[in-house]
Amino acid sequence: MNSPLALLGGDAAIRQPGPHFSWPPITDRSQKVVAEQLAESISIYDRSGVIAELEDALANYFGVKHAVLMSSGTAALHAAYAACVIEPGDEVIVPAYTFFATATPLLHLGAIPVLADCDETGNISVTEVAAKITPNTAAIVATHMWGIPANVPALRALAQEHHLALIEDGSHAHGASLDGQKVGSFGKAAAFSMNGPKPLSAGEGGFVLTNDDEVFYRTLMFAHYNKRCRSEIPPTSALHRFAVTGTGLKFRIHPLAASFALDQLAHLDEYLAGRAEIAKLMCDELKEVAGISVPQLPSKHQAAWYGLPLTYVPDELGGLPVERFHQALLAEGLKEVDQPGSTRPLNQLPLIQDPAALFPFQPEFERVQYWPGQFPVAETVHHHTLKLPVWHREEDVPLARAYVSGIKKVVEHHHDLKG
Ligand SMILES: *Cc1c(COP(=O)(O)O)cnc(C)c1O
Repeated sequence: MNSPLALLGGDAAIRQPGPHFSWPPITDRSQKVVAEQLAESISIYDRSGVIAELEDALANYFGVKHAVLMSSGTAALHAAYAACVIEPGDEVIVPAYTFFATATPLLHLGAIPVLADCDETGNISVTEVAAKITPNTAAIVATHMWGIPANVPALRALAQEHHLALIEDGSHAHGASLDGQKVGSFGKAAAFSMNGPKPLSAGEGGFVLTNDDEVFYRTLMFAHYNKRCRSEIPPTSALHRFAVTGTGLKFRIHPLAASFALDQLAHLDEYLAGRAEIAKLMCDELKEVAGISVPQLPSKHQAAWYGLPLTYVPDELGGLPVERFHQALLAEGLKEVDQPGSTRPLNQLPLIQDPAALFPFQPEFERVQYWPGQFPVAETVHHHTLKLPVWHREEDVPLARAYVSGIKKVVEHHHDLKG
């Protein structure tokens, strides 16, 4: 067959070798601040130096009272759940569609993750959450998927009505906001990852945010024993007597990672503004394209654009399978178009289907039963999501436009891909 599509022997839309996207931006300044930190101190036991500077900067940026640094986002989630006193047998409503670490720390506390389906935006559905509340529910967790704010005002109202804790997983969404209020400041606590590709990166790291003093003390107790607990938990607190050991776990961030993240944070708003422009450009170009649906945000919501999740609509392209469409895009040289793998509906993961197998000492887990097919919206959204990177620099605009053209080319010639 004679087709212009690269998959069928035509010329590729993009010839530039990959990778086409890298994150975080590493500048001369990044090198300098990390080298300075190396000379100053590589091990910090208390809240001093770069640890204090970054925690203060985070609390200020997010508009919350306390920020506590952690070694990872997973550790931050674990600490936040422990600090909100999630107990064995508690049910915690979590998104069916999220990265698994949103839910897995709950298993380590003996709590039961109760999955709730998303809506067509990919974010947890408020009606599905409401339907899952039982007398055993202790908390509701929301992830702001791909940096697009979840409906946390409605979830907060629901949580208040039922006396539940709302906990945010902001790992995709540093700096995203609803009506000017940053995600991470809506609930009782929030946890963020600063892993490699996250909008705010330390390479490895994470943090917990809270306005609640008791949650703050318990976060310290869970993850930062001795010096920090002794100096930051007041002697009037009933927890103070445990300060030397805390709970006996340690999840400190490395000071070099903290110094890198502090410099990144100083540029975050500039990076996000650049991303917002390029995301708008790509969405404006793609919104009329058959087979592609772009995210739509209320006008006063700002995303952090961890990725641009496009929803593929096979019915508009004669039922062409998403896998074949994706293959054609890759052949066109759109190397960064991704069908996310490890971020997938949690009911598809063996650990969530059968936690009792790895936690035999938790008899409660015998009643956890998940299997594929239970969350039709999450499973359809996931299957049809094609994620694009969102660049932030002016000089990347031509590449963003080339990706748009490559997508339009495959859509225009999709008939050639049949049979
Ligand atoms: C990355 C991520 C985590 C885990 O963070 P780590 O720093 O890798 O431990 C948790 N939740 C979500 C939504 C994430 O994207």
